[in-house]
Amino acid sequence: MKADFVIPLNGLPTGKSVFSWCADKEFFGSFDNSDILDADIHVDCDLEKSGNYMGIDLKIRGTVTVPCDRCLEDLEIPVDELRKFSVKFGNEPSTVQETEEGERETVYFSSEEPALDLRQIVYDYTCLAVPMQRVHKEGGCNPAAIAHLSSESDEVKTKEIPQDNPFAALKDLLGQKKGQ
Ligand SMILES: [Zn+2]
Repeated sequence: MKADFVIPLNGLPTGKSVFSWCADKEFFGSFDNSDILDADIHVDCDLEKSGNYMGIDLKIRGTVTVPCDRCLEDLEIPVDELRKFSVKFGNEPSTVQETEEGERETVYFSSEEPALDLRQIVYDYTCLAVPMQRVHKEGGCNPAAIAHLSSESDEVKTKEIPQDNPFAALKDLLGQKKGQ
C-alpha cells in the first residue's frame, strides 16, 4: 500500500515522476503544537531524477484554518507556495538549509530509508506560508467574541478613571472652547 507523502526510492525511474497528495485536518493534527485547526491543501510533487541528482518541486495550494489573534474565531488563510529543493542523502535529519535568494534549497534525507518521507517538509512549508499576523480583515471579527474578550480590561479602565476626573473636565472645557 502506498503511503501519502512518501516517495519510494526503489525502482524510481530516471526522468520526471509526478505525485499528488492531500493534507487535511488529520494530517496537521498529527503534529505536536500545530495551531492549524483545519486544512484543505493539495500538494503536487514534481520529481526529477538524473544520475545522482534528485530535484523536487513542491506545489502547496489550498487553505488552512487558524484561530484569529483578535477574536479567536476561525480564520481561513489561502496558501499558494512553490518550493524547489534538491535531495541529498546523509546522516542529517530532514532539515532545510538556508540558501541565497532564488537558489534551490538542499534537504537531507536519511540514506538508510528506502523512501523519501515528505510529511515533515510539507508541514514546515505550509506553516511558513501562514503569516505571523493572523487577524480577520477590518470588521471581519466576531463582535460578540471581541466584546467578551475586552470586557475585563474595560472594567479596569472604568475603575482607574473616576467620573469626576479633573482632567476629563478640563478636556471637555478645552473642547468647548475649540468648538466656539
Ligand atoms: Zn477575528
